[in-house]
Amino acid sequence: MAEAEFVMPSSCARCMAKEPSESWMIQAETIEPHPDDATMTIETTYWTHVPLCEKCHGQLTRLGYLFWFVGIMGGAVAAGLVAHFAPQYIHRDANIPMALNILALVAVVGGVAWGIAWACKKFISCCLATYKPRQARITFGNKEYQALFDEANRYMPDYSKKCKLGV
Ligand SMILES: [Zn+2]
Repeated sequence: MAEAEFVMPSSCARCMAKEPSESWMIQAETIEPHPDDATMTIETTYWTHVPLCEKCHGQLTRLGYLFWFVGIMGGAVAAGLVAHFAPQYIHRDANIPMALNILALVAVVGGVAWGIAWACKKFISCCLATYKPRQARITFGNKEYQALFDEANRYMPDYSKKCKLGV
C-alpha cells in the first residue's frame, strides 16, 4: 500500500465549489514483475484523496447506499431463483439442517449485493477520477478541475521515478 502524493487544488473535483470540506478516496492497483524472481509479481495498491464539497460528497454517499439497496434486491432475486430451482437438482436431504439452507441463501444475497455495490462504487469513482499509478497521473471527469490539477502538479517529475521503483 502506498499513498500517492499529489497537490490537490482546493476546489471540489466535481462541481468546482471553493474550499471543499470532504474528500473521496480513489484506489488503483499495479502488478509488476518481481525484480529478483520471474515467477513472482508485486501487487501494490495506491490510493489518494480527491477533494469534494459537502454537497457532492453527500450525493455520492447516497448513491452508494442506493447501490447497496439495488444490490440487496438483486441478491434477493438471485437467492429466490436458487431456492426455486435448486431443489430440482439437489436431493432433499433430511440431514442438511434448515439453518444451513438459510445460511446459504443469506450468503448468496450478501455476495451478489456486495458485488453489485462494489461495481457501482467503482463506477462512480471512475466518473469522478481515475488514478493511473504507472503514469503517476489522475484523470478527472471534470475537465476544469483537470486543468487546475495539471497546473498544480507540473513540477513533480520525481514522483514518477519513485513510482516506477514501486516505493
Ligand atoms: Zn461539489
